[in-house]
Amino acid sequence: MKPNYESTRNQKIKCLASEAVAKGIALDGGLFVRNDIEDLKLNLKDLLNKSYIDIAKVVLSKMLDDYTEEEIDELVEKAYKNKFSNEEITPVKKVGEDFVVELFHGPTSAFKDIALSLLPHLLKKSLEKNNIKEEVLILTATSGDTGKAALEGFKDVPGIKILVIYPNDGVSKVQEKQMRSQEGSNTFVYAINGNFDDAQSQVKKLFTDDNLKEELLEKKVRLSSANSINIGRLVPQMVYYFYSYMKLVNLKEINFGDEINFTVPTGNFGDILAGYYAKLLGLPINKLICASNENNVLCDFIKTGSYDKNREFYKTISPSMDILISSNLERLLYHMSGNENNYINNLMESLKNKGKYEISGDVKDNIKKIFKGGYSTDIETKAEIKRIYEKYSYVLDPHTAVAFNVMEKNREEGYKNVVLATASPYKFSKSVYEAIFQDEKESDAMVDEFEIMEKLYEKTKVEIPSNLRNLKDKKDIHTSVIDKDKIKDCFEVIL
Ligand SMILES: *Cc1c(COP(=O)(O)O)cnc(C)c1O
Repeated sequence: MKPNYESTRNQKIKCLASEAVAKGIALDGGLFVRNDIEDLKLNLKDLLNKSYIDIAKVVLSKMLDDYTEEEIDELVEKAYKNKFSNEEITPVKKVGEDFVVELFHGPTSAFKDIALSLLPHLLKKSLEKNNIKEEVLILTATSGDTGKAALEGFKDVPGIKILVIYPNDGVSKVQEKQMRSQEGSNTFVYAINGNFDDAQSQVKKLFTDDNLKEELLEKKVRLSSANSINIGRLVPQMVYYFYSYMKLVNLKEINFGDEINFTVPTGNFGDILAGYYAKLLGLPINKLICASNENNVLCDFIKTGSYDKNREFYKTISPSMDILISSNLERLLYHMSGNENNYINNLMESLKNKGKYEISGDVKDNIKKIFKGGYSTDIETKAEIKRIYEKYSYVLDPHTAVAFNVMEKNREEGYKNVVLATASPYKFSKSVYEAIFQDEKESDAMVDEFEIMEKLYEKTKVEIPSNLRNLKDKKDIHTSVIDKDKIKDCFEVIL
């Protein structure tokens, strides 16, 4: 089989899909991309009336082609069968004239569960296939949701340990409690003094740290990643784009072949890139609308072609999108430039040294044909949560509300809209409660997040996911806070 994954930054670094999953990131710091993705097409008619699990099997077999069909069948079933609280996995709901695809019915109530329920199985199988005998250490930076979903996915998996780094004060109370109370003998969690970008930069640096590399070699440990820099995170996320499209056809909301718009609440550009990959495989998508909060670096980039992270960092009510360095944009630039590794290398050098880069006119034009960008301020986001609840009795989490607001601002005549709903509102109860019931001035008096959770339930009657309801009685296990440049010291404890 021909190795068809390569580093965005160097054409000579090539490997098979399963090896890319095991490595996480290329040795030169580039990200693995499928170099022939423009030639892949799915027979979409075959996907009509298929279940989520069956669509997943088709998409994964196409993209991760050195796994056999039998292997993919087994892994997909293990990941999704009876693991989600909704039997559709990602149900599609109509809200007014528009649609939301709910991605938060997994074990930790965030969309990260979709990929992180599968990644551990993909990785284990990869170790087997490639005859890798070393222990694997999963190194993960999180803006809140990836951490918990990865910890749940990898907990007590033999031969694998997982280290999660999150920004202290940069995640919601529920997200923090979820990570602090993590069980499993192979799980390690640290808060750092810094924001998500600090955590992600430090983690990326460790992947190319020569001293660490030697130490790990000696101890027979290899590093991998559960962040969306790992291609094994992105591919499972393509599935719900196909699933929600087929659902709209089956509901007779669109005709087969009609183009639709997706609006995606975006941070690291992983979720929306999966949508672009779905389009490359033939899904009729008109526009992918990239929705940001006040950290609107991506929105500016899509409008101007200039990426500049030298700007103020805001803490918002949608913390999982408080990101100024969106890793997966590198992959988009690779595809949009026609697989120009050198070009990407130069841009990323510029990002590293100056914190910014500017893309050429034709790459910019290519991006604009498919992508649109917009942003929503915290005030607008709260107003959107209130508006949608009062009009449709539907409760949005703050991230999904950012997307709803941006979708509204970019409505195009003649195209149906699907918004990706990325988290349960109960992960952000305080913000949601305040947004809808602000007149009552109660939530300030209520200091306990779990009290607000119950209150939100009493008023809205939207079911609280059981993993969140049970959280308050869990014991805190991981409570260390460390300096951002001390992450390497954690290895002493782990190895
Ligand atoms: C991670 C996350 C996002 C952003 O997704 P990316 O793939 O990083 O763009 C949006 N909403 C929620 C709730 C998230 O957890």
